[in-house]
Amino acid sequence: MAGLQKKRIAIGGIMHETNTFSTVKTTADLFKRYEWQVGREIFDHHAKVNDYLGGMIAKGHELGVELVPAFWANTNPTGLITRDAYRELIETLLNHIGKSGKLDGICLALHGGGLAEGIDDLEGTILSEIRKMAGYGVPVVATLDLHANLTETMVKEADALFGVNFYPHTDCFERGQEALENLLKIINGELKPVMYVEKLPMMIASSTTDLPPAKDINELCWKWEEHPSVIDCTFFHGFCQTDIPDMRVSVLTMTNGDEELARKASKDVSRKIWELRDLFYVGYPNPGEGLEQALDVPGGPVVINEMSDNPGAGAPGDGTHLLKVLVERNIENSCFGFIYDPETAELAHQAGCGNWITTLLGGKTDSLHGKPLRVKAYIKTLTDGRFVHTTQMYRGKKADLGKSARLKVGNVDIIVCSKRAQTFDEQIFKLHGIDVTQYKIVALKSENHFRSSFTPLAKKIISVDSPGLSSYNLLNFQYRRVKRPVLPLDPV
Ligand SMILES: [Zn+2]
Repeated sequence: MAGLQKKRIAIGGIMHETNTFSTVKTTADLFKRYEWQVGREIFDHHAKVNDYLGGMIAKGHELGVELVPAFWANTNPTGLITRDAYRELIETLLNHIGKSGKLDGICLALHGGGLAEGIDDLEGTILSEIRKMAGYGVPVVATLDLHANLTETMVKEADALFGVNFYPHTDCFERGQEALENLLKIINGELKPVMYVEKLPMMIASSTTDLPPAKDINELCWKWEEHPSVIDCTFFHGFCQTDIPDMRVSVLTMTNGDEELARKASKDVSRKIWELRDLFYVGYPNPGEGLEQALDVPGGPVVINEMSDNPGAGAPGDGTHLLKVLVERNIENSCFGFIYDPETAELAHQAGCGNWITTLLGGKTDSLHGKPLRVKAYIKTLTDGRFVHTTQMYRGKKADLGKSARLKVGNVDIIVCSKRAQTFDEQIFKLHGIDVTQYKIVALKSENHFRSSFTPLAKKIISVDSPGLSSYNLLNFQYRRVKRPVLPLDPV
């Protein structure tokens, strides 16, 4: 192992999932307010954290690699990354990799669903830029999100790509470990990866892998991974709110030098997806119907997740469709965690705990997600919005949602925060003194990531859909660029 200790691997990445239907432009400032880390700051924020970089760091230390932390930037999904932001991001990444000295490999955490103004394929472009600088002699490996819209450029420019298998993405840490370990094998000449991607003429809305049909497809991928030459076989769901020609479901198989085997596995898994395709297009109740169903469930808590306004998919997070139903019906023993509204959070902080405010809550980003709600609210708790995640996906990661408040409007406890994010775990409730297990109705904004923490404590989960930028009804979106024909827009 003595020889391995000298291997120098740069780690870092740029991560964004771009919702092209969003009106919120993604500036460098949005990254800087969320995650913008250079050099050793990457170790400070990710060592012992259950995310991609945390996995790379842990595996690097285990294998005696010298890790060179370069640059990492990440922010919540929003609209197109501006030209200026892209330039700053790529220059910072290249600059920090460039000054790392002689490298044996580069290991990146990317998404696969990123876009910038004039750039349809953020990750393919990042990888190409790195190749221009470092050449093809230095292996480059990357992790990808399950919602990646895979492109030929990504597959061509990376030596190996490792997508997360689960939604909720509970295996980011494991994929980070896998990427680093396999990169080292490539460096040592033990592995010559060949990738084959099969794309299907279909796009799907967010589908958890906890349940069929996605669960069954994963099982077939893992069956292929039992083959000694198959390094990885991954079902990528794609990100259906990115209107680009390449947006679609795909399967990527990576083998050790066996192209035919990679092709066979990708085609076999694609056949299974196609067989099960109808199961991906199901309807969901609207907020009113979902609440009725929840009230019929004996006991609690019943978790109602508002899928259509998921800030984790580029929706504004200040939508009022579900909250309006709770407030108008004045549902006893109900809580909502949380809505994005920095103005109301500021107003509450100025008024102080124990006082009353009258405000227009939410509905300020656009008109699609519901109008602002006029409420008279009692200020129960004020916080700085800071906590540490306990979800398996991000365990140990620090969250900062800015000035936050727990308001009481009639019977409903409502948490208001100053930064956009989906709800991953119960920590935002705990921070405001709410024990969700004691509530009948727990409402939140997320599509599937919340399941990792809430499935064990919920009596039942009811997903509701309404007009929104992450709605399940893909027929409501005005797609202009996606390659046609494609399910569910066209008969295929
Ligand atoms: Zn994802």
